[in-house]
Amino acid sequence: MSYRTCLHKVLGAAVSTDPEILRAYDHDLGEMPALLLSLFRRVPDAVVLPRTVKDVCETMRIALLHHVPVTPRGQGTSGYGGSMPTRGGILMDISRMNRVLTIDEQNGFVDVEPGVVWENLAQALAPFGLDNRICPTSGLSSTVGGLFCMGGMGIGSLRYGDIKEVVTEIDVVELGGSVRTLTGADMDMYHQSAGCLGIVTRLRLLCRPRTKLHHVAIQFSNASRIGTAMLEARRLEAYSASVFSQEYMNMQAEAAGNASGGKQGFTMLLSFEEPVWNEDAVQAMAKTLGGSLMPQSMAEHEWEQRFYPMRIKRNGPALLTGEFLIKCTEFQRAWESISRQLSKDRFGLEAFACHNGTMSVLIYILDSAEDLASLMRMGKAMLPLHAVEKFGGVVYSSGLWFSSRLDSVLGATKAQRLREYKQCRDPHGQMNPGKLCGNSGVTRACILLSRLIWVGTALSGPISRLLPCRARRLRLHKEV
Ligand SMILES: Cc1cc2nc3c(=O)[nH]c(=O)nc-3n(C[C@H](O)[C@H](O)[C@H](O)COP(=O)(O)OP(=O)(O)OC[C@H]3O[C@@H](n4cnc5c(N)ncnc54)[C@H](O)[C@@H]3O)c2cc1C
Repeated sequence: MSYRTCLHKVLGAAVSTDPEILRAYDHDLGEMPALLLSLFRRVPDAVVLPRTVKDVCETMRIALLHHVPVTPRGQGTSGYGGSMPTRGGILMDISRMNRVLTIDEQNGFVDVEPGVVWENLAQALAPFGLDNRICPTSGLSSTVGGLFCMGGMGIGSLRYGDIKEVVTEIDVVELGGSVRTLTGADMDMYHQSAGCLGIVTRLRLLCRPRTKLHHVAIQFSNASRIGTAMLEARRLEAYSASVFSQEYMNMQAEAAGNASGGKQGFTMLLSFEEPVWNEDAVQAMAKTLGGSLMPQSMAEHEWEQRFYPMRIKRNGPALLTGEFLIKCTEFQRAWESISRQLSKDRFGLEAFACHNGTMSVLIYILDSAEDLASLMRMGKAMLPLHAVEKFGGVVYSSGLWFSSRLDSVLGATKAQRLREYKQCRDPHGQMNPGKLCGNSGVTRACILLSRLIWVGTALSGPISRLLPCRARRLRLHKEV
């Protein structure tokens, strides 16, 4: 019996082999040249939408028995190719495992299934006086399991750390169908694993008390004090600190049909929890660093907009993005270097501070993607990543496209441990082949391809710098 027949027999309606549905899973949110994508068998042979741990176990049992690859997927928002199949097989869409299992008010933690969307979790916690400690800006659609497997961070990470510091225990299902509960070093292996070890089926997360947040917006005329201000925000125990370049603010304003301002400067948004909030200390910090406080309505507006960075895509219509981590102390040099690289393009910067003195930075470059040269221009998204390496900057995550950067993303020690762990738990490379690491031929080929992309975009940088990205403004439809 074929494995697809087995899946249908055992899992019934949770399985689909309908070609239309299969095709819907051949991509994630990232924009990559079609030529590159055509190198992979991206359409899965079967999609499984498990609702229970038992469904996951049965799928993993059949996958091992028939030597079939398994690609886990949350909501596909990571854009690093991690949830895209590279050689068909089973696509495990986790989004229906989205229940909040237990809320422990006394001890301030919650047990959830991996497909819970961050904002839905916040709503479930609210009646218990609790809230998420951190939330990515994709939190209206991305899943808790997805952030853990990507090793992400978000709003709140300045105070509470990245996802690893928020999750204290997980359940996983590995090939063959065995369930394990992991904490400590074993759990650490699954953090940033991009689904290449097994399926995470439960997570225990620490929550914060649902206290009122106070928001402050500060204007800075240039990049010179941004890094220091981010570090000061940490000293003042801010819950969150974000910064937006003036061009990013302009793009947001234009996308909403409003007038935009000048080109220079940055807006910083600081948020504080109720007992920590100290207005005098914040005002003194702004004054010392040469920043000017903006109207309160502006701060509230920026907070309201936190989940909608992608609205600027309306100005594109294509949006090239590059994402990296850098020490706050290196922000100014990184900014200057990126500005030189992208001097012919219209681009915006959005960043937020993490707890360990680093910043997560996103660069948005607008383009029309209408002509043949747009293929060449796509490599521009990589220019900031190359530019910041000399200041200690690292690519935000690895997934498929950056698997050759694994050592710098995870650190050489963790990367090596992950390779050994993978070899032990998944020796034939069935789990999410092509991503991060593994000894299978397809994974080795993908790592080689990732290296070629990295080196190729570094070498072609001087040429792509000469090709300005062009934005073509879309006609705005009235929002409903
Ligand atoms: C507008 C926007 C804003 C963003 N903001 C942030 C941000 O603030 N911080 C941040 O860190 N990222 C951010 N991201 C990136 C992305 O949204 C996050 O990484 C998100 O957590 C991914 O979740 P997902 O459910 O979409 O996972 P997917 O993209 O579907 O999956 C991510 C990886 O995890 C694996 N995976 C998913 N679920 C499981 C599971 N249950 N078991 C095993 N493996 C699994 C997949 O195979 C894949 O490799 C943003 C993206 C966008 C588009």
